[in-house]
Amino acid sequence: MSAANPKVELQKQRLRFVLNRIEAARVARGGEAPVELIAVSKTKSADDILPLIEAGQRVFGENRVQEAAGKWPALKAAHEGLELHLIGPLQTNKVGQALALFDVIQTLDRPRLAGALMAARDNGVTLPPLFVQVNIGAEAQKAGVMPDEADGFIEQCLNEWELPVVGLMCIPPADEVPGPFFDKLAALAAAHGLAQLSMGMSGDFEVAIAEGASHVRVGSALFGARG
Ligand SMILES: *Cc1c(COP(=O)(O)O)cnc(C)c1O
Repeated sequence: MSAANPKVELQKQRLRFVLNRIEAARVARGGEAPVELIAVSKTKSADDILPLIEAGQRVFGENRVQEAAGKWPALKAAHEGLELHLIGPLQTNKVGQALALFDVIQTLDRPRLAGALMAARDNGVTLPPLFVQVNIGAEAQKAGVMPDEADGFIEQCLNEWELPVVGLMCIPPADEVPGPFFDKLAALAAAHGLAQLSMGMSGDFEVAIAEGASHVRVGSALFGARG
């Protein structure tokens, strides 16, 4: 646990490098809007995550409810101010568990899930901030509401169901230039008065910031490549 712990020193260096790149992109974009770094710790053990917490990182993302349930309750109990985002698909039968574990849910993408969240709210649960995930490249294998259904779904979430949607999230197609997809997500968010945009990963977060990202989700640039 000392300052000389080499794992903590390595994580401090990687964290500083990523934060410097984020800040440079944010300054280049102009304006005052901040950019939040979400450290994506999927597949990483609590032992791997701890040095990054000790390096000062507080906001993390996980893509599986079950995996997160195995490591985050203890980490949260031991460290003040941790904020956990769900960035992977949420099944309706896991909504209760997800609401107990996550501070933000970024993957609201269908009416059935909206219904499960409303049912939890009816039972007295305070819902966390939500992002609507948009399948911005309309890819068959990917989660998210399809672009041509996004306007209607977002509108319903906000005005009919009064869900606490604060922004939009996307994962653009892996094999295409990401900028136009980020731009499209930003336009969709602006059309609905949503200020938050979760977009950009290790390979493209600077592009995402240029297009208006408020949250970037970075895994491998912080933890090294996943095995
Ligand atoms: C894994 C993952 C990331 C992080 O990916 P890296 O390329 O390792 O930075 C970001 N967002 C989602 C939804 C992910 O599943």
